[in-house]
Amino acid sequence: MEDILNELPQRAKDTYKENKKFFGKLRKKPPKNLDTLMVELHEAEFERTDCLTCANCCKTTGPLFTNKDIERIAKHFKMKPQKFVESYLKVDEENDHVLQRVPCTFLGADNFCSIYDVRPKACREFPHTDRKKFQQISNLTLKNVAICPAAFNIVEEMKRRIK
Ligand code: SF4
Ligand code: SF4
Repeated sequence: MEDILNELPQRAKDTYKENKKFFGKLRKKPPKNLDTLMVELHEAEFERTDCLTCANCCKTTGPLFTNKDIERIAKHFKMKPQKFVESYLKVDEENDHVLQRVPCTFLGADNFCSIYDVRPKACREFPHTDRKKFQQISNLTLKNVAICPAAFNIVEEMKRRIK
């Protein structure tokens, strides 16, 4: 996995133009079965990819925390939400609550998430490759393929399957 992660930013750079063109076309004319196809590609890829050998999303980016996330996780720690925010989060340029630092404080050395059951919604959904109307998050996906090897593979498979 280490080699794959080391090579990923360059591979994402090399495929950027092609991916941008592909998503431009996809947005204009998404295939009727896109939602079903994405679930199929997502499930097949995550059968092969073990996130516990990777954790690159937790190490390099981290999620944004919604108010609901903050309330749920603070409750888990028996903390007041404000205290949780002060201890672990900051507000970014877009006014979202994000981690004060990466790798994520809640990531263990074994790549396990110590708050897995109450983790933020964005962590549960990353890399969003099984979401409906996937064509609507193409700009985000263009970035995610440089972070997430599974997202990279899914986009490569999409290009093979959607002509
Ligand atoms: S979601 Fe992607 S980046 Fe995150 S651990 Fe799994 S494969 Fe790695
Ligand atoms: S909360 Fe858990 S899943 Fe989310 S970034 Fe931190 S370690 Fe990863």
